[in-house]
Amino acid sequence: MRLLITGGIGFIGSNLTRYLLQRDNYEILVLDNLTYAANIDLLSHFQKHQNFNFLKTDICNSKNLQKAFKEFQPESVMHLAAESHVDRSISQPLEFINTNVIGTFQLLQNTLEFYKKLKVPERKRFRFIHVSTDEVYGDLGNKEPPSMENDAYRPSSPYSASKASSDFLVQAWNRTYNFPGIITHCTNNFGPYQNQEKLIPSTISKIINNEILPIYGNGKQKRDWLYVIDHVKALEEILKKGRLHESYNIGGNNQIENLVIVEKIISLIANKMSLEEKKLKKLVKFVEDRPGHDFRYGLNCNKIKNDLNWEPMQSFEESLETTVDWYLKFLKKGKHKSKEHF
Ligand code: NAD
Repeated sequence: MRLLITGGIGFIGSNLTRYLLQRDNYEILVLDNLTYAANIDLLSHFQKHQNFNFLKTDICNSKNLQKAFKEFQPESVMHLAAESHVDRSISQPLEFINTNVIGTFQLLQNTLEFYKKLKVPERKRFRFIHVSTDEVYGDLGNKEPPSMENDAYRPSSPYSASKASSDFLVQAWNRTYNFPGIITHCTNNFGPYQNQEKLIPSTISKIINNEILPIYGNGKQKRDWLYVIDHVKALEEILKKGRLHESYNIGGNNQIENLVIVEKIISLIANKMSLEEKKLKKLVKFVEDRPGHDFRYGLNCNKIKNDLNWEPMQSFEESLETTVDWYLKFLKKGKHKSKEHF
C-alpha cells in the first residue's frame, strides 16, 4: 500500500514509520517540516530504505500538498503532524492553531480533491486516519466513568482545543463530502524517540544529570499510559479494518499518577546504576500547577476491542523498563547534550 504519513519524523510518527517499513508491504511518503520535535537522526536512517520517501513541507502549504498527492498517488493517509506539547500551547497558542487547525484543513481539502478523482475501487479502499487525543474529552473526576467515543468534547488547553477543532473539521468533511475519515483518540504514549520535553524522557534525563525534577501541583494528576508500539499496532488495525466515519478510543487501561511514574523511574534508574534511591527522590520538587491542568483522563476502549480485536499487548511495568533502558543507552551516546531532542 502507498501510504502518506504526516508528522512521520515525530515521536509516534517515527515509531509508526519504522514499524510499517519493517513489514515491507508499505511504500511510505512522509510529509514533515522537521520542527524541534522531529527526530532528524532517524530521517537519514529511514532514507536508506527503498520504500521510504520524504518531503520536507509544512502541512499548511497547499501547493506542496497538491504536488505530493499528484506525484505519490497515495492509497490512504495517516495524519499525525501536530504541535503536541500542552505547556508550549499555553505560551505559543498560534502555532497550535496554525498547524493543528489550518494544517488539518489544508490536508483535508487536498485529500478530498485527490479522493474525488479516484476510480471507484480505489475510492472504496481509501482511508484518512486522523490521529487525535483523549484530551479533547476534558478531565474526569476520580469517580467518573472513562470517556466514550460519543461523549461531548470539553477541551481545556489551547492544545486540546486545537485538536478538538481539527476533529470537528474531519467530522464535518465526513458528513458534508462523504469523506473517508476515521478519528482516533489515544491516551498518553511513551517509548523511544519521544521529545525530551515530555514527562518520561525529561524525568530520565534530569535524573542522569542530577537536576531538579519539577512536579506540577501535588503530582496526583492521573494519565492513562500506552506503549507507543501498541498505539502503532492499533493504528494499523484501524487502517485495515476501521469503519469509515467512526472514531476509536485507544488506551492502555493504565491510569497512573504523575508522581508515581516519576518514583517508578527513580527506582528503576537507582537499581540499574547502583545509585541511592533516597537521594534521587530528593530531586523531586513540587512546583506551581499548570494553568487549566486537567486532573485525570481515562478512556473506555471497548469499541476497538470488540470491533477490531485490538488490546494493548505490552505490560506497563515491562515497557517502562524497556523505555528507561533505551534512554539510558541513548544518553550514554552523548545525545543528551542536545537539549532539543533525543
Ligand atoms: P511530536 O510533537 O513528537 O511530533 C510531531 C511531528 O509533526 C514532528 O515530526 C514535527 O516536525 C511535525 N510537524 C509539526 N508541525 C508541522 C507542520 N506544520 N507541518 C508538517 N509537519 C509538522 O508529536 P507526537 O507525540 O508524535 O504526536 C503525534 C500525533 O499524535 C499528534 O497529532 C498528537 O496530537 C497525537 N497524540 C499524541 C499523544 C502522545 O502521548 N504523544 C497522545 C495522543 C495523541
